[in-house]
Amino acid sequence: MKKAVFPGSFDPITLGHCDIIKRALPLFDEIVLAIGVNSSKKYMFSLEERIAFLKETFKGESKITITKYQGLTVDFCKKEQASFILRGLRNPADFEFEKAIAQTNRLIAGVDTVFLLTSADTSYISSSIVRDILRNNGDVSLLVPDAVSKQ
Ligand code: ADP
Repeated sequence: MKKAVFPGSFDPITLGHCDIIKRALPLFDEIVLAIGVNSSKKYMFSLEERIAFLKETFKGESKITITKYQGLTVDFCKKEQASFILRGLRNPADFEFEKAIAQTNRLIAGVDTVFLLTSADTSYISSSIVRDILRNNGDVSLLVPDAVSKQ
């Protein structure tokens, strides 16, 4: 069984994440959307809210499960018996950052990372820009799934 973990903060989930997840569905039998819990990081949305957004967005999608984890992503992959990590790439900065992590994860745990290149129409979307707009009471409905914009 081909199983992948898509780790992220999803603070909040955007249409950029949704694009990567939907396009990865034909590649895997199961995709675990996993929110990494990092107690030293400040988030706009609580863990419960971020999980609820993911659940609402992907309800009825039998290949997707949603959870949280603490610690190393590769340890979580082992626990889940997932051989792959899924990540999206938007730009050279993403590539440089992701490259070192992916190579290290493969070396220390034998977990390979599958990268999907962002679609042209979602490549500019980031959770941090969405948060900036929300902080200033702007409209994010073109950038996020309904579960987030209707909250
Ligand atoms: P993290 O804190 O782990 O970077 P994010 O939720 O910001 O968590 O991102 C999770 C993954 O989603 C990363 O691989 C990131 O590159 C990818 N991603 C975010 N936005 C987009 C987008 N617009 N297009 C493609 N991939 C994206």
